Amino acid sequence: MGLATVYRGLQVLIKKGLIHSRGHQTGEVLYNLVERDTYYLTCVYCVVTIRLNSCP
Ligand SMILES: [Zn+2]
Repeated sequence: MGLATVYRGLQVLIKKGLIHSRGHQTGEVLYNLVERDTYYLTCVYCVVTIRLNSCP
């Protein structure tokens, strides 16, 4: 399976509302399952992302 196939699959899951995607200014895109509200904090310098338990 090629990467293009993987990305097409991800787009289908997004359209179905099963996953969220979050674009980053570096061009990186992060995907996560839609289970419940999740919050992330991403450092704009080193792009480290941590998951938070609640909205800051
Ligand atoms: Zn940092």
